[in-house]
Amino acid sequence: MLDHLEHALSRQPRVRLATLPTPLERGPLLPGGARLHVKRDDLSGLGLGGNKARKLEFLCGAARAAESDTLITVGAAQSNHARMTAAAGAVLGLETHLVLGGEAPRVPSGNQLISRLVGGRLHFAGGDDWSLLEQELNTVAATLEGSGRRVYRIPMGGSTTVGAIGFVAGWIELMCQCREQGLRPSAVVHASSTGGTHAGLLAGRAVTRMTGVDAPAIIAVSVVKSAGDLVENTIALAQGCLRELGLSDVCIEREAVEVDSTQIGPGYAVPTPAGDAAIDWAARRGAWVLDRTYAGKGFAGLLDADRQGRFGDGDDVVFWHTGGTPAVFVLGGNAASQPETTPVSLIHETKRG
Ligand SMILES: *Cc1c(COP(=O)(O)O)cnc(C)c1O
Repeated sequence: MLDHLEHALSRQPRVRLATLPTPLERGPLLPGGARLHVKRDDLSGLGLGGNKARKLEFLCGAARAAESDTLITVGAAQSNHARMTAAAGAVLGLETHLVLGGEAPRVPSGNQLISRLVGGRLHFAGGDDWSLLEQELNTVAATLEGSGRRVYRIPMGGSTTVGAIGFVAGWIELMCQCREQGLRPSAVVHASSTGGTHAGLLAGRAVTRMTGVDAPAIIAVSVVKSAGDLVENTIALAQGCLRELGLSDVCIEREAVEVDSTQIGPGYAVPTPAGDAAIDWAARRGAWVLDRTYAGKGFAGLLDADRQGRFGDGDDVVFWHTGGTPAVFVLGGNAASQPETTPVSLIHETKRG
C-alpha cells in the first residue's frame, strides 16, 4: 500500500522548491513525562520557510502543467502562504500577485517585506473581510487575464486537494524519519487554519492504517475556525486528496479527525496568554522560535493536551513546527490588529533593559 502511495505521488506534477527532508529534532521532556520532538518545517527554505512550501511544490507543478505564466493568491495582511507563493514565483520565474488584507502600510514589515523582496506584486483589499479580498482577487485576476496572461489561482492557504498532497508526502517523510530514529510517536500536533496541512497528514495516515500498522494520532490545533466548521471541510479535502492520488478506496476515519479549537482566544492573529507562554517555553528549552498567530497557539494546544494527561510517561510526541518566522519581526508580534497587546516576556525584558 505504501509503495502504491509512493508510486501515486511520483506521478503527480511537482516542482522541487522546499529543502527536504526538514529535520526531526529531539527535544526535552514535557512536564507530563513524554518526550518532545520537533518537525522543523520552519526550515523548509523558500524565503524563510514554513509549511506552505510543501503544498506549493504540487500547486506550482499543476500551474506549470497548465502552462500558466502568472500566479495569484490571497491571504491576511501577514500571510505566510502569500509570502511563500511569491518566493515560489521568484524561483520559477513566474510573475506573482498577492491580494492581501488591510491597507498598504507605510513601511512593509514581516511577510510583506519578504514578499516584496522576492518580487511579489502586492495588492491591498483595504479591509479584512473575505468579501473584500475575494472582490479584489477577482478584479486583479480579470485585469491580468484581460492583458493575455495565463493565470493560475491559488486559494487561501494553498488548501486545495492538490496542495494537500504536499502533506501526504510530508507524512511519509516523517514516518521514514521515525523509523530511522527508532521512534513510535503517540501523537503529532500542529497549528491548523485552512485545514490543508491536516488533510494531507490525515490522508497519509489513512494509507498507513490500511497497511494494518499503528499510526500516531494527529491533533490539529485550530487558530481561526471552530472544530464544527473545520472538521467537515478537512475530511472533504483529505478525501479529495486521496482521489487525486487515485486512492479513493482509502477511507478517512471520522474518529481520527481531531480538532482542538480551545486555543483560538479572541480571534485569528490575536495573541493569547497561553500562546505567549508556549512561545516562551519553546524558546527557552530548544530555542525554537514560534509566532503568535500559528505555531505559538499550536504549541499551546500540545502543552494543554500534556497537562490533561493525553500523553503517557515515556511517549514520544511530535510538534510539527509549521513556520511563521517572518511575522515574529512585526512590531507587537504579528498581531497587526492589536499592536498594544502584551508582547512575549522576552520583549518585556528587553524593554526593562
Ligand atoms: C498556513 C499556516 C498554518 C496552517 O496551515 P493550514 O494548512 O492552512 O491549516 C500553520 N502555521 C503557519 C505558520 C502557517 O503559515
